[in-house]
Amino acid sequence: MLFHAGLCKDIQVRIIGAYRLEKELKKKMSETDYDVIIIGGGPAGMTAGLYASRACLKSLMLEKMIMGGQMMTTTKVENWPGYPGGIEGPELMMRFQEHCVEFGLETDYGTVEKIIDNGDHKTLIVDGKEKTCRALIIATGVIPRKLGIEGEEGLVGKGVSYCATCDGAFFRDVPIAVIGGGDTAAEEALFLTRFASRVTLVHRRDELRATKILQERILQNDKIEVAWNSVVDSLESDNSGLSGAVLRDTQTGETRKIELQGMFVAVGVTPTTDFIADLLETTEDGYIKADEDTHTSVPGIFAAGDCRTTVLRQVSTAVGDGAVAAIMAEKHIEKLKHRA
Ligand code: NAP
Repeated sequence: MLFHAGLCKDIQVRIIGAYRLEKELKKKMSETDYDVIIIGGGPAGMTAGLYASRACLKSLMLEKMIMGGQMMTTTKVENWPGYPGGIEGPELMMRFQEHCVEFGLETDYGTVEKIIDNGDHKTLIVDGKEKTCRALIIATGVIPRKLGIEGEEGLVGKGVSYCATCDGAFFRDVPIAVIGGGDTAAEEALFLTRFASRVTLVHRRDELRATKILQERILQNDKIEVAWNSVVDSLESDNSGLSGAVLRDTQTGETRKIELQGMFVAVGVTPTTDFIADLLETTEDGYIKADEDTHTSVPGIFAAGDCRTTVLRQVSTAVGDGAVAAIMAEKHIEKLKHRA
């Protein structure tokens, strides 16, 4: 190791000590020991992975299903800076993944069944096998919420869907409905006008929750009819699947039947946090309680992106969280080293 001639002896000794300690720790690490494990391969997880691996931490990002998370089922992302005109969600995520593995991030598929907090180490049971880390970042995101009405489950894949980008093309020239009034419902309704003969946007209030620009596009689109103050009371089906729905007016209680072959449910999301419910403090609806520096109720465990308590759930905020979580993980590991 070479030092600048002006660096005092004391500091040189401390640097050499820290270097040797780091080498010792790395030597002791088996293949399943990591500095940082990140659970979730969406924008928050990938950014955490990029920052952690770039900080030379031995890092692993685990994903249960598809790398890229919710963005893989998103059409055009118009509010990610640097892409005037927008970029397709899957394309953006492929670029994210390419970028983070460039710095040596390991990625793997697996379901985390349990997390055990052993203080300085966290043990994860992944598909029955153990992995350990010194800092853990949870970036598991959210999944679409179901409507919870009779017949919904049985008609999934036979007319009921939770993803317009995945299933929209199956509904060419037929009437469909989108349920919900948020950004997702508005984006899905607009996207589905490419295929469907008519799109009924069913919203339980008289005002959409979606951002103004999306509201304007919905109201200006001739193929979209908004069923205001309406909820789906029941579904109707025949041999080929969904055939209609009964809508109920939330103000008058009146019902009416609409013909449908597709129903896209976009009534919000639920955080994917059931596997940590015993370990971390969460809100009543399951979001991990985390401060603005992504610290959770357990030292050494950080939460980033949509699965945590936050004021905004966007790609840009997930990315910011991922970066902060990785830096906090690095600081935590440094503290552990100095205590050792
Ligand atoms: P959301 O903002 O929570 O909206 C859910 C919508 O579904 C609301 O309009 C809600 O009605 C309605 N709803 C909830 N439960 C219902 C039920 N049981 N029956 C009928 N309607 C019901 O969820 P989201 O649209 O999935 O968005 C989630 C987050 O992602 C948000 O923060 C959103 O801004 C963000 N996002 C951003 C973008 C973007 O920036 N391009 C795109 C998609 C999502 P009420 O309005 O009456 O509560």
